[in-house]
Amino acid sequence: MLDASVPNPWHFHQYVDVERLADLLDYVRAAPFWLARLPRVTDTLDTLEKITPVTSDDLRTHGCPGTDTMLTRAPTACFVFASGGTRGRPKLTYRDFDDFKHYGRYFDGLKIGPGDVVANLFSAGIWGGFTAHNIGLSQRRCTIVPLGSASLAPQAIEETITIMKLAKVNALAGSPSAIIPAGQRLSTDVAIGVTKVYCTGELITAAVETSILRQFSHAILRSTYATSEAGGIGVQCATLEGARYHPLPDVLIEILDGQGHQISDNTPGLITVTKLTKRTLPIIRYQPGDEGRWDTGGCPEHPDIPVFRILGRSDQMIACGSALVALSSFGLALQHALGDVAPHTIVAEQIDGLDRIRCEVEHVAAPASLIKSFQTELYRREPELARLVNAERCWPISLATVAPGTLQRSLISGKVREFIDLRRGDRT
Ligand SMILES: [Zn+2]
Repeated sequence: MLDASVPNPWHFHQYVDVERLADLLDYVRAAPFWLARLPRVTDTLDTLEKITPVTSDDLRTHGCPGTDTMLTRAPTACFVFASGGTRGRPKLTYRDFDDFKHYGRYFDGLKIGPGDVVANLFSAGIWGGFTAHNIGLSQRRCTIVPLGSASLAPQAIEETITIMKLAKVNALAGSPSAIIPAGQRLSTDVAIGVTKVYCTGELITAAVETSILRQFSHAILRSTYATSEAGGIGVQCATLEGARYHPLPDVLIEILDGQGHQISDNTPGLITVTKLTKRTLPIIRYQPGDEGRWDTGGCPEHPDIPVFRILGRSDQMIACGSALVALSSFGLALQHALGDVAPHTIVAEQIDGLDRIRCEVEHVAAPASLIKSFQTELYRREPELARLVNAERCWPISLATVAPGTLQRSLISGKVREFIDLRRGDRT
């Protein structure tokens, strides 16, 4: 429980609608999974705080196509989306129509309105993102040009540029995997006309932000924090940037430590989400696997609304010999060596009894000096890995450049697979 003596403007006790939370907790007892997991106490907040957090694996096992004991009712008035394709383990998720009513808030920070013409570049394949953003944009009364990320493929780009000029597109919405290639391939006159860029679906790191703003030099950039299972979670106003977000209305955020206790200051912990609007497949104390923390500095424009910061995925560590290497270190080393974030895949395998990890990046052939610069930066970030390489207890990390568009992409999401582990039988 929260120590009441510590003042904490960001704790959800300050802003939770207890009546609606009680309604949700009462409703979900219709599902066997929730009936078993909900503690037998009467106080609503106490009940929530005693629930063991739910993971993506729980959703995969107990939502359809598993035992479906998490579903409170037969699916109706909802979309069914597939997700998880980038890791080779697709699952279904249910998103009630009622869950979409605040999605127009995604575009608060960009002040998208009737004067804007927005190209929807979400992958026609990540249907959750594509659909949710069309609905959210329609709530802003702007003009929507649904193009999908496939419109940025080399064989389609000339036509896309023509369409964007004819429609007078001034704003782009998509995942960084679409927006970054858009910046590389759109003609200069189209790029200059882009004054608003909206991103979601992947962590917006400082490197990603710099890359996008370099390509769209007349644009402001805003993002949301969302997952395919939960839908929208955090949004940005005109003031918040980077990876800082306000919770959407109807979303309760908790930051939990490794023991499941709430963190009430700005110490990092696991982002934990409860959505008051979801009924078919409820999202209660769901942990998407991202680390985050309260930003107790807050937002000067909205001092009464909490601000949280996403720090990155907590579960993306790759074993190499006895070292655990953060997946993000590869991206940062690439950014250091190549000056840009290019799509890349990390492949782990075992050769002659030793782990070997290689990074394949879509980029023009890199001279040896750049490969050396990549390795040096990676080893600097991961000293234990450097020690194992020096001791010849794993292979040196290698970097291979491949032609743009040739890395394996998920058929569902269109995203490049971030990690392929041949040691555990991942398919290539
Ligand atoms: Zn704000």
